[in-house]
Amino acid sequence: MSQERWIITIDGPAGVGKSTVARMLAQRLDAVFLDTGATYRAVTLAALQKGIDLLDPQAVGRLMDNTDLQFSHANGIMAVIVDGIDVTAAIRDPAVTEQVRHIASAPPLRARLVQLQRAFAARFDRVVTEGRDQGTVVFPDARFKFFLKADAAERARRRYDELKAAGKEVDLQVLLEQIKRRDESDVNRSVGPLRPAAGAVTIDTTDIDAAAVVDKMLALIKTASLKRAPNTPFPLRGTGPCQGESNK
Ligand code: C5P
Repeated sequence: MSQERWIITIDGPAGVGKSTVARMLAQRLDAVFLDTGATYRAVTLAALQKGIDLLDPQAVGRLMDNTDLQFSHANGIMAVIVDGIDVTAAIRDPAVTEQVRHIASAPPLRARLVQLQRAFAARFDRVVTEGRDQGTVVFPDARFKFFLKADAAERARRRYDELKAAGKEVDLQVLLEQIKRRDESDVNRSVGPLRPAAGAVTIDTTDIDAAAVVDKMLALIKTASLKRAPNTPFPLRGTGPCQGESNK
């Protein structure tokens, strides 16, 4: 793609491989990677650390007023700093993962985090962002939109392998239950629910690895970019499900 300003969105459920794919795609396209789940996680961690009731959006809102949340891009990763402390690793803690849905389903908190995500993206020319509502709500005019999906059992197995590799003791069945609970919460909340954006290209990642997903995306982007007439306005959207899409 040419070096103009653009945003590519990647949405999908927990454990589908969005972060890995978004990071790799950003690297291939010389873009910045925005992990929007990290914004929800940062607020969740801050509330847990300060003993704020996660079910009280007003109290969490006040906490946000008094907390310095910084997101920066360095060497292909998004660093998260809360009140001057690097919490990039701490926000991945299972306790945060378990509680984050309370923040994600509170409309006033979502509105604030959406602003924060847009402000982050505005600092860069080229952004690959991933989350649940990036193509539908946060960046509806994105240049290109993707939606990843995969069987819940496969997503749980991937999480299991990741946590095992990080030396954590976990139960596959418990992970599967957690994934299903997060799906339920992501799909059914009233604001920013998880669903494919109009014009998004859906890719089923159940049987393909991250590198193959990125290759597929790059091929689609290339084809679409070639088809785009010079000086046509944005957005250029996906043209439907990609080849091999099973629509299970
Ligand atoms: O992607 P990740 O697992 O880090 O996201 C953490 C949580 O934040 C998710 O379970 C989801 O509920 C929420 N989230 C969201 N909207 C986004 C990104 C994440 O609601 N754009």
